[in-house]
Amino acid sequence: MNLHDLTIHEAAGLLAKKEVTSEELTRSVLARIGAVEGRVQAFVTVTAERALDQARAADARLAKGETGPLLGVPGVIKDVLCTRGVRTTCSARMLENFVPPYDAHVVDRLQQAGLVMMGKANMDEFAMGSSTENSAFHPTCNPWELTRVPGGSSGGSAASVAAGEGLYALGTDTGGSIRQPAGFCSVTGLKPSYGRVSRYGLIAFASSLDQIGPMTRDAEDAAIVLQTIAGYDRRDATCVDVAVPDYRDALKPDLKGLRIGVPKEYFVDGMQPEVEAAIRTGIADLERLGATIDWDISLPTTPYALAVYYILAPSEASSNLARYDGVKYGYSHAEADGMWDAMEKTRQFGFGPEVKRRIMLGTYALSAGYYDAYYVKAQKVRTLIRQEFNAVFQRCDALITPTSPTVPFKLGEKMDDPVQMYLSDVCTIPVNIAGLPGMSVPAGFAGGLPVGMQIIGRAFDEPTVLRVGHAYQQATDWHTRRPAL
Ligand code: GLN
Repeated sequence: MNLHDLTIHEAAGLLAKKEVTSEELTRSVLARIGAVEGRVQAFVTVTAERALDQARAADARLAKGETGPLLGVPGVIKDVLCTRGVRTTCSARMLENFVPPYDAHVVDRLQQAGLVMMGKANMDEFAMGSSTENSAFHPTCNPWELTRVPGGSSGGSAASVAAGEGLYALGTDTGGSIRQPAGFCSVTGLKPSYGRVSRYGLIAFASSLDQIGPMTRDAEDAAIVLQTIAGYDRRDATCVDVAVPDYRDALKPDLKGLRIGVPKEYFVDGMQPEVEAAIRTGIADLERLGATIDWDISLPTTPYALAVYYILAPSEASSNLARYDGVKYGYSHAEADGMWDAMEKTRQFGFGPEVKRRIMLGTYALSAGYYDAYYVKAQKVRTLIRQEFNAVFQRCDALITPTSPTVPFKLGEKMDDPVQMYLSDVCTIPVNIAGLPGMSVPAGFAGGLPVGMQIIGRAFDEPTVLRVGHAYQQATDWHTRRPAL
């Protein structure tokens, strides 16, 4: 097996036994980037020199006897997370030349743990999208079939892990942006509970929904990364001060005593039959592992989740993005006739079409005449969605759904139809609305293209979500397949 294809836990084992150095591991990943990046285009910025410096520093720590599951392991950071001294673009013209003076909390944590950062991953501009085609720079291609999208918005993160351009990545998820691309690229992607991970240094899209999480090659690796990034940070007022359990401790080979529900509303019209078949096979696997399956689960407000999301997320975005005025930082349009014209032109040229659409939707929903009819109503439905999940979790320990209704679609296929694009997140959005943890695990292929299975848990019960994913991966080998690039 190639070094660049290892899991984190395999790499850490080799590093601890001194069978490989971090520098060798890093050079293997850099060589792989050299070989495939021209076709995959997962990165906005590759930080090769910095990676080698960090690898040598990690080797020095290892030589002194220090150990740690992430020490010297090459990873990739989504370009929505601030990295001190390294350009952080959000795949936006607006931030094309933005070099943050500080690190995001999660980046800081990973660096202390020994991160070797390979680069900054491509994404949809400001994390708005489901295909990574909204990047202001270039799309990313799906490593399983280069004419297809990798999903989004964390498409660069997902593609890099699938293609061997990093052993793991960080993504962010507001409505599905970790899980949907994880599903599309056949990697494991975990969106933690809202408040589990500090958002300090994450460039805001919709602050009541955004969470940062791991994108890895298996559930054990997701547990390792989550262990490092989870926990209280006073710099994010919504980060909750609850103890961080030992996530690897939760990983058991079976599912005895667990009750897993299958909510019927998630097997939606328009779902590809091969996707549904793969998920039903996955559920049978979970049953064989000892779980009790409850088929009689209903979450009736599910059909409203997409509408709620496309009121709340744009509303919050329209407020968060008001800071990009060409004055404080970021792009500033030079030739303008006075202040208002400068601000207008900055936004006209600095934002792409999807971002403009969201700002308009959000300002509309928040405007005086429509606030009650749209924003307040959506907040009320949000509460109902949450209550419904809470009721179901009295009966079940976890829920299983498809991650997306379809396999990865063709590049360009949905670019002219925003609503079709929005529909790729029907199965993931309710989880953000309710603030719950959700994980996508590889669950097979349909016509050679990846299918993801979503595991949803109670708020702050990442241990059970990881346990289900890990047990499933002990009984299946979908997560061990790699694309033939
Ligand atoms: N695709 C969804 C959107 O466009 C979700 C994006 C995300 O989770 N960041 O808003």
